[in-house]
Amino acid sequence: MKQLGIYIHIPFCKSKCAYCDFVSFPNIKDKENEYINCLIKEIESQNWEEINKKYQVTTIYIGGGTPSFIDAKNIQKVLDVLKRKIYNSCIYNESVISINEDENQNKNQDKNLRESNTIRNKDIEISIEVNPGTVTKEKLKVYKEAGINRLSIGLQSTNNELLKQIGRIHTYEQFIETYNLAKEVGFYNINVDLMLGLPNQTIEDLKQSLEEVIKLNPNHISVYSLILEEGTPLYNMVEKGQLSLPDEEQERQMYWYVKNKLELSEYKHYEISNFAKQGMESKHNLNCWNQEEYIGFGLSAHSYFENIRYSNTDNVEKYIDFYSNIKLQKNNKIQSEKILIKENNKYQNETQTEKKEKRGIKQIHETQNKEDKQKEYMLLGLRKIEGVSISKFKEKFIENPIYLFKNELAKLTEESLIEIDGDYIKLTSKGLDFANLVWEELLLFSLDN
Ligand code: SF4
Repeated sequence: MKQLGIYIHIPFCKSKCAYCDFVSFPNIKDKENEYINCLIKEIESQNWEEINKKYQVTTIYIGGGTPSFIDAKNIQKVLDVLKRKIYNSCIYNESVISINEDENQNKNQDKNLRESNTIRNKDIEISIEVNPGTVTKEKLKVYKEAGINRLSIGLQSTNNELLKQIGRIHTYEQFIETYNLAKEVGFYNINVDLMLGLPNQTIEDLKQSLEEVIKLNPNHISVYSLILEEGTPLYNMVEKGQLSLPDEEQERQMYWYVKNKLELSEYKHYEISNFAKQGMESKHNLNCWNQEEYIGFGLSAHSYFENIRYSNTDNVEKYIDFYSNIKLQKNNKIQSEKILIKENNKYQNETQTEKKEKRGIKQIHETQNKEDKQKEYMLLGLRKIEGVSISKFKEKFIENPIYLFKNELAKLTEESLIEIDGDYIKLTSKGLDFANLVWEELLLFSLDN
């Protein structure tokens, strides 16, 4: 049975952060109910019967945007639909039933259970991204009731001046309020997001942020470097010299400070930007880095399914127009994903702009052959601190990565960017600083070289 992740995109935000180029909008709140109905239609239109034969859903991730900005009942509504679909998979598939005692005991009560809207499989990680300033105790209670068992809170910094500068809508005090409410409501698995490399951020600011967050003892901390995206207000301010960013050396210093401090505080560094208490790694993230498949629902949501990487349109009108006008047939299926994807192929000889204008609701980014998969497995796997397991690679592709990538590995090892440590090919400390050079080298890989 293969693992499957589900991603749900909620593109609503209260206002736009200065550095953000995600598909999120501050001015479409009036479309919330319409959007949720379309999202539900998109979920219902999937061929779950087929999916359930081969896959077990192990994670659901509700991201955005700011999912906590919308009515919590709408989140619950979407999860209820998904739960019924996933629950069916637990009922009808023996191998899933066998790993779940509850299911075994209740095998004869299928119908009642199916209607109970309860996720029986305790292994499913259901996460939601929340932002301080948009969360209430009532919303958190609804999340809990809906089966959500992991919160990811966007803090970024404990310095209110910095928060204001990057356009966050909240203060550090509001974050504390959200965190305490989450604990009160009974959330145990909590991630806190921080950022480094912010304009005018000093190492002292970062130390302070880390210390405050460590005191709270969340199970997971993500620390992302700011990526200056062209076209964002922050990019323009930096271009005009109105704001300055820490230089590369200062940024690396910050990164290593974070790594050392969190490791000393019993957080395991398990991916370039992610740290977790023992056993509390994000399953959703690990699935992505282990090249497991996932299906995304909602505006601009990306999917990786049956060797195809594809995404939904990022045009909100087009998305709503498509799903509100489509009629679900008797068996609750509209055109299958494959037909929708195929429709796009007729535009494949046109320019990117033409394609973007004309293309349908889904767009293919890549149809992978074995070589593409192997290369990508290395690229994704090297993001993990433990690296790529040679034996798992062999098991998956029936080939030895050491031999397959011998030229690239020889070059990267000579440059001290990667090392082979027992069963693992992994980044060295230098490789963590210059990971881009590793990605570049591996991207050049081709079986012809
Ligand atoms: S809250 Fe997140 S998605 Fe929304 S604007 Fe800010 S960074 Fe972007």
